[in-house]
Amino acid sequence: MTDNFRDLFVGLETPVTLLDGSSRIYVNLDNAASTPCLQAVKTAIEDFLPYYSSVHRGTGFKSQVSTHAYDQARLDVLRFVGASQDKHTCIFGKNTTEAINKLAHRFPFRPGKDVVLVSSMEHHSNDLPWRKVAKVVHVRVTPEGWLDEADFDDQMERYADRLALVSITAASNVTGLINPIHRLAEKVHRVGAQIAVDTAQFAPHRAIHMLDLDDPAHLDYVFISAHKMYAPFGSGALVGRRDTFEEGEPEYRGGGEVEIVTLGEVVWSEPPERDEAGSPNTVGAVALAAAIRQMEQVGMDRVAAHEAELTEYALRRLNQLAGVSLYGDKDPSNAANRLGVIPANVDGVIHYLAAAVLGYEFGIGVRNGCFCAHPYILHLLGVNEEQSRVVRGQILGHDRRSVPGMIRISFGLYNTLDEVDAVVEALDCIARGKYKGLYHQEKDSGAFIPEGWQAKYPVF
Ligand code: PMP
Repeated sequence: MTDNFRDLFVGLETPVTLLDGSSRIYVNLDNAASTPCLQAVKTAIEDFLPYYSSVHRGTGFKSQVSTHAYDQARLDVLRFVGASQDKHTCIFGKNTTEAINKLAHRFPFRPGKDVVLVSSMEHHSNDLPWRKVAKVVHVRVTPEGWLDEADFDDQMERYADRLALVSITAASNVTGLINPIHRLAEKVHRVGAQIAVDTAQFAPHRAIHMLDLDDPAHLDYVFISAHKMYAPFGSGALVGRRDTFEEGEPEYRGGGEVEIVTLGEVVWSEPPERDEAGSPNTVGAVALAAAIRQMEQVGMDRVAAHEAELTEYALRRLNQLAGVSLYGDKDPSNAANRLGVIPANVDGVIHYLAAAVLGYEFGIGVRNGCFCAHPYILHLLGVNEEQSRVVRGQILGHDRRSVPGMIRISFGLYNTLDEVDAVVEALDCIARGKYKGLYHQEKDSGAFIPEGWQAKYPVF
């Protein structure tokens, strides 16, 4: 392995308790959900906290320091996504979900332009907010889970007159497949629409280039979540073209976003303040900025190269494993062109159980289920309409025991080839029935709990 980045992170050597009472160093392969904290983030927060104070409204020295740090964090985010300081704006919030909902609320839909095109591989957060404000059209995906670009072109043509926005993920949180966002952007701009790109998964692994608004391949909006970028302090950002946020009303009304308020009149602030009602999460913004600077220092090319090496090795080993099925792009030689997110199933072992055994008996953390992308998962699993109806009935009947799903292995910058070996060997044991626990399945959640498990969690 060319690089080892473990020293950059907090808590990677923390032992966890296993079912047999022994302990082992946790192997976290659930980075597509949330990532551990960078040391640089922890240090920045520790250095900042003694100065923490109100932003924008205080005159004291600590308020000045806090305001400066908050404003500087915006600049770091803008630089990180390749945005411009005058034509774009960075609006801080909680996470990607909030950012997309905000854009859905703020997007300037014009009369007759009521269609938002999304793909069938979206996380629910980049689908459901649009259903509230527009006619949403879903572009098909291929059987392996790639965006069907021919269908994208057809839908663009079909709805050209009504198209307001394309909102599409840069990379899938299920398969790690990457979409050709700049090529799509050119097509979108050609018909006078705009493009929003969900970079929640992409941002921790690849450089983002929003490009100048004059460039036909530019991205009009992107969304990021700090907790997926090694800065778990509750922040996220919507970066978008400034002109969108210069008009209209903010989603939330309150303090911190107004120039003038009389008993009869409100004059809203300019972006980004107009869309940041109330006191902001300054610590979260400082954390995100520190993560960005650390990742820039490592270099996004090195980040991508390291993860491609892990992904290639993992695919090579998993492909050889009897009794394990993979989904999406299984080709190790293509590892550099997708993210290190690998969905799998152990044949004959429901995903709930496979994930439970990995956690309880091997100290390996993965995610299982449908990863907030139900239509995409059912498509990849080949679940037909009739089967879907059965599943729907089971879920509504509070019985999730046989709801289909997958387990998901997802890499971060700090993972190692040894950790890949650990999960491959654990999956091999599970496939061969070599696990020790006696599990019972909860009806409501589908989760498997081992008999005799007595959780002793640290208290903070
Ligand atoms: N989009 C994608 C592609 C994601 O992977 C996620 C998180 N899994 C989200 C959106 C939502 O992010 P958050 O939960 O941070 O709002």
